Amino acid sequence: MTGELAPPPLLQMALRVEHDIFLVRQRGREVAAAVGLEHQDQVRIATALSEVARDLLRLVGGAEVSFHLHGSADGRHHLHVDLAPVAPLPDERYEPQSGAVSRLVDSLLVLTVKGDTVVRMSRRVPANAPAPTPERLAEFRDELDRAAPGSALDELAAQNQQLIAALDEVRTQRDELAVLNEELAETNRGVVALYNQLTEELEETNRGVVALYAELDEKSAQLRAASESKSRFLANVSHELRAPVTAIMGLGRLLADAASDPLTGEQARQVGLIRSSAADLLGLVNELLDLAKAESGRMEPDWAEVDLRPLFGQLRGTLRALATRPGVELVVEEPPVPAVLRTDEVLLGQVLRNLLHNGLKFTERGEVRLRAQLGDDRWTFVVSDTGPGIAPELHERIFEEFYQVPGATRVGGTGLGLPYARRLVTLLGGTLELTSEPGRGSTFCVSLPTGGA
Ligand code: ADP
Repeated sequence: MTGELAPPPLLQMALRVEHDIFLVRQRGREVAAAVGLEHQDQVRIATALSEVARDLLRLVGGAEVSFHLHGSADGRHHLHVDLAPVAPLPDERYEPQSGAVSRLVDSLLVLTVKGDTVVRMSRRVPANAPAPTPERLAEFRDELDRAAPGSALDELAAQNQQLIAALDEVRTQRDELAVLNEELAETNRGVVALYNQLTEELEETNRGVVALYAELDEKSAQLRAASESKSRFLANVSHELRAPVTAIMGLGRLLADAASDPLTGEQARQVGLIRSSAADLLGLVNELLDLAKAESGRMEPDWAEVDLRPLFGQLRGTLRALATRPGVELVVEEPPVPAVLRTDEVLLGQVLRNLLHNGLKFTERGEVRLRAQLGDDRWTFVVSDTGPGIAPELHERIFEEFYQVPGATRVGGTGLGLPYARRLVTLLGGTLELTSEPGRGSTFCVSLPTGGA
């Protein structure tokens, strides 16, 4: 700040005796008002000024007080109040007696201006105050010169007014705070009530869910028990039936044997019927037993590395005998290499034989084909035929026990083959799915993990 080319001060005055403190304070407020500081700021700067004036009077016996309007680079103005002490400050330092003083202004510094020590207080003029032109500044000076300094009593009265106004404001603020506090408490009570209600509702819902789960557990236990009794019943009945049916077949064979007494033609025909019926019955009993065993959960796959090529060769050989229709070709494609997967060879063989057998049973023209393909970590076995196809709404039903599609495809059989096949595939860790449409053939896909279940 040294060497700065400052315009003449707005006002200058001497501080020498106690009474001057009042004058300085009063004029300080007037200057602050004239440059556009708000009322609060006028009081602040006047208060700070009277405190610093009192300090300097006590410390060094007085000061020259001057007021300046200082424009800064950003276009804003500051009111500077400079107090140049009449004698050097002890240690060239100054600390206001009251610590609160420096909070009343933007800055309170000890500076050297043109070689003299000055205590400077500064306060920013609000941006909305009209920009002071040189003419306006000259007017300020005149106005300030004209305003006759009042007495200490006047200043005391003004100070009292300000105190009352400040107290009033404090009271209003306190009242507003009380209202706010009340509103906050009200809101808090609301939030707590809402929270309690939500907690209650949540607990209620939880109780409901727990009860529902308990009921579900109970129902699934009942279902499990029912399913177990069904499997046990099927197993027992079929086991008990197997011996008498086998006996009937044996007796039929004896009766028809050439070494036995000759039968009349009609007797031979009837014995033939008995034998074929008994064979059908044995087939059904065996399928029931298989299914019951698979469902009982006691069937353990015999896991091993299986080479698909011999398995496919075997299927080709045994099923050729069943492919008796002249217009139907059975194609078992060679599996791609490496044709190995970890599974139970016997169970996989049963599943594929079952699906191929169905295809041959229901297809009247075209072909029945088995193809194996290796995906990322799964083998897919596709059994497709050019048979009558199955309506989409029956795709799941045909996997139910004893279900057979009504109509032309009801050619013997038990309706147990597909449910059994699906059980086995599940045991092997895979899935059995069907895609088919009436008139467009059927495609059954068995998908198995290469590494076993
Ligand atoms: P089954 O063959 O002993 O009747 P399944 O469980 O193997 O018993 O099949 C159930 C029913 O699904 C069959 O009766 C038949 O109606 C239908 N079905 C199965 N496979 C085919 C197929 N490849 N084409 C058309 N219909 C089929």
